[in-house]
Amino acid sequence: MSDPKSTELMEKIVSLSKRRGFIYPSSEVYGGINGFWDYGPLGAELKRNVKDLWWRSMVHYRDDVVGLEATIIMHPLIWKASGHLDTFSDPMSTCRQCKKLVRSDQAREMVEDADWFQELQRFYQQATQSSPVAVSAESLEKLAQATRKHAPSLALVRAREAVTARLLASAANNGPDWADENQFIRSVSTENAAAGLTHFPCPHCGGELTEPRPFNLMFKTHYGPVESDDNVCYLRPETAQAIFVQFKNVFETSRQKLPFGIAQVGKAFRNEVTPRNFTFRSREFEQMELEFFIKPDEAVAALAGGVASASDGAWQGTPQPDWGWEVWHKYWVEQRVRFYESIGLAREDFVEYWQKPDELAHYARATVDILFRFPFGVQELEGIAARGDFDLTQHQKFSGKSTEVFDEELRSAWAILDEPTRTALRARHESSLKESLLKKGIAGDEATAQAAAASQAYFEKLAKGHYVPHVIEPSAGVDRLILALLCKAYREVVSTDEKGKTETRVVLQFHPRIAPIKVGVFPLLKNKPELVAKALAVRDLLRPHMTVFYDESGAIGRRYARQDEAGTPFGVTIDFDTLGEKPELADTVTLRHRDDGRQERLPIAELLPRLLPLIR
Ligand code: ATP
Repeated sequence: MSDPKSTELMEKIVSLSKRRGFIYPSSEVYGGINGFWDYGPLGAELKRNVKDLWWRSMVHYRDDVVGLEATIIMHPLIWKASGHLDTFSDPMSTCRQCKKLVRSDQAREMVEDADWFQELQRFYQQATQSSPVAVSAESLEKLAQATRKHAPSLALVRAREAVTARLLASAANNGPDWADENQFIRSVSTENAAAGLTHFPCPHCGGELTEPRPFNLMFKTHYGPVESDDNVCYLRPETAQAIFVQFKNVFETSRQKLPFGIAQVGKAFRNEVTPRNFTFRSREFEQMELEFFIKPDEAVAALAGGVASASDGAWQGTPQPDWGWEVWHKYWVEQRVRFYESIGLAREDFVEYWQKPDELAHYARATVDILFRFPFGVQELEGIAARGDFDLTQHQKFSGKSTEVFDEELRSAWAILDEPTRTALRARHESSLKESLLKKGIAGDEATAQAAAASQAYFEKLAKGHYVPHVIEPSAGVDRLILALLCKAYREVVSTDEKGKTETRVVLQFHPRIAPIKVGVFPLLKNKPELVAKALAVRDLLRPHMTVFYDESGAIGRRYARQDEAGTPFGVTIDFDTLGEKPELADTVTLRHRDDGRQERLPIAELLPRLLPLIR
């Protein structure tokens, strides 16, 4: 349950975002559209900075990653091959009373903050302190009164007599309605509480939710003028698939050799059942994804004489030829955390969640979720998955076009590999294939036979230097990152003036690299043409290199405060000393630092060399 302080903090962030032009509700003048958000002037700069920095660190600063910009609408078969058409769904329930749709697995989380829910919890705890459960018709009536206003469809309210009779009968022998708190909540939210009832009440009215049914999250549309089943297509729910289907083109045209990656930043669309937590779960959002293609471990073993162990910390260093998927996976987790550190988040802000074997998709070898401590809970910011060769193999199967690469060095290395090593590699490969077939639900003998045949075919190709690359996928959401950065940067500073009046100001402590405006330029007075002319000259000096906000209106303190609230890390003030009132200070300015209010005097000529390293 999120505490009231966190809820209050989120409300302040949402309101500041609107007031200062970071994020507005989409289509607001028409009443808004749930799950869609627009970025205002400051938000657009912030987002652009974050995407540029990601691109720089992923593509420009590396020799082994190249970029791609693909279309949003692609051939519909792509989504069949990727599994999205069949399995990209969330469990959805409808409220029998208010008819609203609710993501079934989020019902509990959604009602937890409601007062009426807490009322139910308190009641349950008191009633079950003694055995048998201490409850009366009067106390249940009181509970119904207390929850009536915000949960009018709760069965206890709607059908009080029937539900009360059942609860009283069940209380006498500590029956199923009182088995535990969850069961009690379910019992008061339905008229027919069977012991096995699994769903929570509707978060909107306390009503009864229908059984969950899968709801596909892809937005469907049609290409061409005729709307028929033949020209159905989808807005992409992730940017990754375009990378897989263009893998061969990029490989053949970019002169890259494995291991290498393809990066893409772009829009993705998911028709989320219940968009919530501001931009955290939106229906239109942006992703920054990398598919890093690696050689399968068997090829690494043959080429490098072995596969490095993931337990010796090698992944903290520079990539080596003997890295297999485990070391590469850990390496990318570390790289991603380092990126976040470079833009102002701290390692302590994250929780690295390694999915347990039974949570992994059948093709995934390991998945790490990087969770951020948002005010509303610790939630996913990025997922980093080791996906084996699943994606490229699927597209090979569905398109009929090869996604294999040929490696001459591998062919030569395999030819001289000793037999015991070959046998060991074969055995390990076959057993891991079998494991994943079993996980898919294929029966024991069948799995053994399929694994043996597939493994044999795989090694025949490998011996000739052919294989389908494996992939490590770091996949981050831009909007979630922007939200994390806003939450991290938000500070309230309380100050008291000489008259004892206190004032609370908001300061956004963005890292200078991501700050939407890097520097504010202020002439001390706006009615002194010499000051204004000098300030404009400073603005023009800085502008080609960074975002500058020129502001001449109001008291200088107010101008600083406005920039603090926008997250601008530096302020430059041009005063009479700049003009030479004290000759030794001619052509110097005051540089103010946002986070500690420190001011220093320095020559105009030193401004650029001083600021540039801090913002790049
Ligand atoms: P969740 O479990 O939170 O729905 P996911 O595991 O489905 O997320 P992925 O498919 O791994 O997410 O997508 C990669 C990243 O894209 C996520 O880590 C997140 O940052 C971002 N993302 C996914 N869905 C949304 C959304 N509805 N709104 C905003 N960002 C999203």
